[in-house]
Parts: sequence; C-alpha cells; structure tokens
Amino acid sequence: MCGIFAVIGAENAAAELYVGMVHLQHRGQDAAGMITFDFNDAENGINISKDIGLVSDIFDETALHTAGGQMGIGHTRYPTVGVGDTKEVQPFFNRYPDGIGLAFNGNIVNYPLLKEKLRKERVYLSSNSDAEVLLQIFGDSYGKAKGDGAEAVFNAAKDVHKEVIGGYSVVILIASKGVAAFRDPNGIRPLVMGEKRINGNGRKSYAFASESIALTIQGYESIRDLKPGEAVFIGKDLKAHSKVLTTGKPAPCVFEYVYFSTVESVYEGRPIYDVRKRLGEELAAKVKKRWPDMQIDVVIPVPDTSRAAANSLAKALGVPYEEGLIKNRYIGRTFIMPVQKIRENAMKLKLKPIESVIKGKNIMVVDDSIVRGTTSKRIVELLRESGAKTVCFLSTFPPIRNPCYYGIDFQRKEELIAHGKTIEEVEKELGADRLVYMDIEGLQKAVGTDQLCTACVTGEYPTTTEHAKELESLRKKHIAQITNKC
Ligand code: SF4
Repeated sequence: MCGIFAVIGAENAAAELYVGMVHLQHRGQDAAGMITFDFNDAENGINISKDIGLVSDIFDETALHTAGGQMGIGHTRYPTVGVGDTKEVQPFFNRYPDGIGLAFNGNIVNYPLLKEKLRKERVYLSSNSDAEVLLQIFGDSYGKAKGDGAEAVFNAAKDVHKEVIGGYSVVILIASKGVAAFRDPNGIRPLVMGEKRINGNGRKSYAFASESIALTIQGYESIRDLKPGEAVFIGKDLKAHSKVLTTGKPAPCVFEYVYFSTVESVYEGRPIYDVRKRLGEELAAKVKKRWPDMQIDVVIPVPDTSRAAANSLAKALGVPYEEGLIKNRYIGRTFIMPVQKIRENAMKLKLKPIESVIKGKNIMVVDDSIVRGTTSKRIVELLRESGAKTVCFLSTFPPIRNPCYYGIDFQRKEELIAHGKTIEEVEKELGADRLVYMDIEGLQKAVGTDQLCTACVTGEYPTTTEHAKELESLRKKHIAQITNKC
C-alpha cells in the first residue's frame, strides 16, 4: 500500500509534491521519493531525491528549492515486495528511452514470472521492487513506438495491461515530454486527477493522486477518478489526452472505504466520511435485530479510523459515545508495519485507556476491521485491565479470510485471525464477550454499490491468481529478511 502523486504545470513541482505526499503519508511510512523536471533546463532538468523515512524527514526547504521544476512524480512507500534499503525506494528512473520515471501503488500478482522473463531477456534489475519491472515493460514498449506523444504512452500502458496481472495505479514522468497516469483494467487501486488555474492567467496545472485530499488541499478542482483501464497523458503544452485502453469488470478495493483512505477523501465519488457513518448505522441495525436486549453503557471508537462509524452507531442505538482509548500520535499505523514483531512492539506503545470512561461499564468498542487480530486482542486486554464489566467488539468490515494480492499487506492466509475459523472461534481468541462483524450485504449497502473488490472477504478475485503461490513464497522470504534485521 503506497501513496502516489504527480503534477505538471506547477510553479514549483517539488513544493506541490511535498504537500501532496504529506497528505498521503498515512498510506506508507517506510520511505519516500520524488523526481522533478525543469523544462527550462532540457539537458539536465531531472532531479531525483529519495530515502528511507517520513516525507518531512527527507525533504527540507533547501531540497525542495533545488528540486523545483514544473512537473514531477512522488511516492510514499509501504513495502509489499522488495524491502531493505534505499535501492528499493520509488520512484524508479530509466535514462533510456527519453528518461522515464515511474511510481506506483499496488501489487503485481505475476511479479516473480515477469522478473524471471526479463532476466532471460538479459535485462539487469537493480532491485527487488515490482515498480522496476513495471518501468521496464512500459519503457520497452514506449521506446519501440513511433513518436513520443499520447499514442506512444497509450500503447505502452496497454502493453502493461496485457502483461501485468494485479492491482496497480501508476504515475509516469517522461523528461521534456510530460506526465502520464493509468489504472489497472479493474481499477482496483485508486487514482484521481484534478486541475487548477494558476494566477488567473488562463494557465492550468494538472495533478494526480491516490486520494482526493492531496489535490483539494492544494486548490485542485474538477476532481475525478480515472476509470478502470484508463490512461491520461498531459504534455508540455498542458493539453490533456485520455483513453480507456482495456475494459475489465470495475472492482475498486472496498478496504479503501473502511481503513486505508483518510476520512477527508472522496473515493469513486463517495465521501469516505459518509460511508463510514453508514457503516455504523448498518451495524446498529444488526445489533438491534439480533441482540435487542444487549446491555451497552457506552460506545467507544478505536482511534482514528472508526470514529465516524462509532459515532453514528451510538446515535442509532441511543447510547452515549465517549473517547475511551487515546492514541499515541507518535506511533504509526500498526497494521501497515511490515512484520508482526514490529507491529506487536508498536501496539504496546500505541493505545492508552481512559479508566474513568471504562471502569464498571458494559463497553461496545468499534474498530474498522480485524486483520491479524494483534490490535484487537490488545484492546480487549486493555479494556479489561481498566475495569470494563463486559467488552463487545464490533468490526465495520466482515471477517477477512482470504489474502490480498493487490497491495494491501496480507498476502498469506495464515496471517489472518479469521482464516479457517468461525466468528465464535475468533471471539474466543480475542477474549471478547461478544464479537459482531459487518456482513457483506451491509458493507455493500453502506458503500452504495456491489461493483467492488471484496476478494479478501468472499475469495472471489477480480483477476486470475494462478501465480499467487510464487508471490506468497517471495513474501515469506521478504518477511524473513526484515525479521532478521529487526
Ligand atoms: S482483496 Fe480486499 S484489501 Fe485487497 S484489493 Fe480486494 S478488497 Fe481490497
């Protein structure tokens, strides 16, 4: 899971990338990078800057001034494939043809096979990142095309669609030429674009981002999601060209609504905040129907993702809503930390209870989802240690029983607490008095559509998963590498 941003036509591309990337930091905290290009210096206009760490630690005012430029691409990274050092950090850059930079969000299911194929073609790969494989396939096709405009970009993106199986949103910078962006044929990973007028002089700039907040916060308007399989190219003349290259069944990731996207964003035309409120209402209806006599003294959220849902649930049940758990703001999101050992250590530091809210009460605690169960177990323990009379645990997402191969970091079923278990068995393992999960119908109703990827719940994947086994073993190797380093 990562955040991507691209801009063209900006007065200072690096400054816009910085703001955009800070607003996408929640999507990946391992590393960040940007490539900018200055059209006034066609020979040496490329500037590449990337490192391990948070955006604000990597880029200071001097670095942003030096990077400058009028177009650029940026990335905030969570590692799914390829980990370890700065050579894995995006964006990636190839000098030939033309000088192409690429950053992407997602995961390639057939990555091990594509990597092997490229090696056989005597292509030297300098990292374990699937971004490098994408860049190679795109660059190879772009280099063979006649011309260098929108059609060459569209042909290259179409070739990526043909070869690459998975969920991916991509931003590309082509030195002296322009910026391109495209989504996978099912639109699994998010990507929005927007435009704004500069200084009222009729000039426009365009930007692309994983989430709308990174655009709206910088004054971008006319924001729209790229369609599944669509590519957009914006050249130096700031004319936008777009085309749907490959049509697949639309399957945007439903987990973006529940967990990944920040609550200020709008995804596929639906405000995340409104969806989360409806999730709370759906859960309240389920509780009222199934357990009309359940004793609840107070509803508390697990901060921060589940606040909107917990609030609307409390209202619908007519029960007080309180803040009973406080998050240490200096600890990142535990679910997106790369290995279990780091996650468990972070959990001990992450949440603190407010005893006066909890002691002697029947607590209904609401979380966005339960993946490995690390956080949920600790929360139940904390509430009991703080004197809760009973703990009812609610998840706004149904049981996750299948791996995600599209860029959310649960690629192995053994990692998932609900895999192969009934709800009662998970309830017991968490130590809760009652566990209530959202069901798939309620989830689709809250989102407002069934045109979604829900594979981690249903096991019905929008793409073929025939190469998932190879990906799983690569993931095991990856975990072993990090664990050894910890
Ligand atoms: S499998 Fe789940 S987490 Fe992965 S893309 Fe589909 S809905 Fe999202």
